[in-house]
Amino acid sequence: MAPKPRVHVVGAGIAGLSCAVRLVHQGHDVHVHEAAAQAGGRCRSYRDAKLDRVVDNGNHLLLTANQAAIAYVDEIGARHTLQGPAHAAFPFMDLRSGERWTVRPNGGPVPWWLLSPARRIPHTRPSAYAAGLRLACAGPEATVADCLDRHDPLWERFWEPLTVAALNTAPEEASARLLWLVVRATFARGEAACRPLIARDGLAASFVDPAVAKVRAGGGEIGFNRRLRAVAFSGDRAARLDFGETQVLLAEGDRLVLAVPPPAATALLPNLQAPQDMRPIVNAHIRLPAPPALPPGSPLGLSEDLPLLGLIGGATQWLIVRDDVVSLTISAAADQADESSEALADILWREAAAALALDLPEAPPVRIVKERRATFAQTPQALRLRPPARTPWRNVVLAGDWTDTGYPATIESAVRSGWAAAQVCADSP
Ligand SMILES: Cc1cc2nc3c(=O)[nH]c(=O)nc-3n(C[C@H](O)[C@H](O)[C@H](O)COP(=O)(O)OP(=O)(O)OC[C@H]3O[C@@H](n4cnc5c(N)ncnc54)[C@H](O)[C@@H]3O)c2cc1C
Repeated sequence: MAPKPRVHVVGAGIAGLSCAVRLVHQGHDVHVHEAAAQAGGRCRSYRDAKLDRVVDNGNHLLLTANQAAIAYVDEIGARHTLQGPAHAAFPFMDLRSGERWTVRPNGGPVPWWLLSPARRIPHTRPSAYAAGLRLACAGPEATVADCLDRHDPLWERFWEPLTVAALNTAPEEASARLLWLVVRATFARGEAACRPLIARDGLAASFVDPAVAKVRAGGGEIGFNRRLRAVAFSGDRAARLDFGETQVLLAEGDRLVLAVPPPAATALLPNLQAPQDMRPIVNAHIRLPAPPALPPGSPLGLSEDLPLLGLIGGATQWLIVRDDVVSLTISAAADQADESSEALADILWREAAAALALDLPEAPPVRIVKERRATFAQTPQALRLRPPARTPWRNVVLAGDWTDTGYPATIESAVRSGWAAAQVCADSP
């Protein structure tokens, strides 16, 4: 009997893993090759020696609207590791004034919460939210800032934080159409679509380790420290994979799924067009002497159900508390990525102390993680460069959050891209 055709999945981020899980399930002979010593890519956990804790490279938040991401977590048997409140509620604090509030969208598609001063954002008017409908009519070249009033209090308290959190791109350059897709899928559909979910035990436990186990249990193979250096082509197909000391010949029927970020993909595939302009995210992890108390109804706004707080008026946009570690995020962090880690640690510790009302005799240990290439800049121009899963080479398929899924570059997009790539493999003769 002829051997089964192989699928080589290069990259064990969420796109590669979601693709490999699907392919193994469909009975393919799957080989995953990852350049790093661990899986997860931009969505990974690791043991930090300075803090002596396992931390994530950065805070990751899902919303219940992220149906593919949640279905993937279900598929790998990790749904119980996602934590969130029974109803959507987003606590916020203004770091300048100390004012705190909680945004509570209501159920159902009629957004009456905007009429309730107790539920909507303080100092905002219902008509300012209605102005968000301008995003729905935005042209393909429009940015978020082109559509909305930067002088309205809702800008600083909603539109700007939402844009950088969802698109990791400043509103002055972020695509209005892409932001509308986010609003339409979440806030416009009522609270059931925008309940926040976080990985209770860290990213690896929710998104990565169970997927690796699933691939292996299904007979797939995953190898680490295997960087694909070059692809040799023959006619309209990839013929050989160069991993340095190891060369892999692709037989007729074998496939290559490239689930690597844009710079790696364009270096490996001639003439591939892809978004190349990347935007950073900076995270700080601070190890406190003890877990902060978060009793129900705490005036801090955070709770055990959802230990998350949105911040405005400072550098941090949001923080998550997990046991004795508080992790703070700055998205679209072009300015901060070039600052020294010491200076950032100082600023972010002061913001954490204010947000959690901490008064410690000395500053605790802080780890700064700068992800300089966190996502591509989600500008109108870059969206046009997102390629589909199929390539001109008949046995080469693309996956990754940056490919043309129609979704912002997030876990949701990475999973959808992995599934699309698996579908192309299944459909090809
Ligand atoms: C700090 C931070 C915060 C984020 N916050 C959120 C959030 O709140 N919510 C959300 O949904 N998303 C968030 N994201 C985005 C999310 O992490 C990404 O969209 C997702 O992880 C991308 O997965 P991927 O598989 O497409 O790419 P990657 O994770 O980049 O995976 C690509 C893999 O390919 C490997 N590789 C590269 N070159 C080669 C090669 N030549 N050979 C072999 N392997 C190679 C890499 O090592 C990597 O493991 C965040 C990202 C960051 C960095």
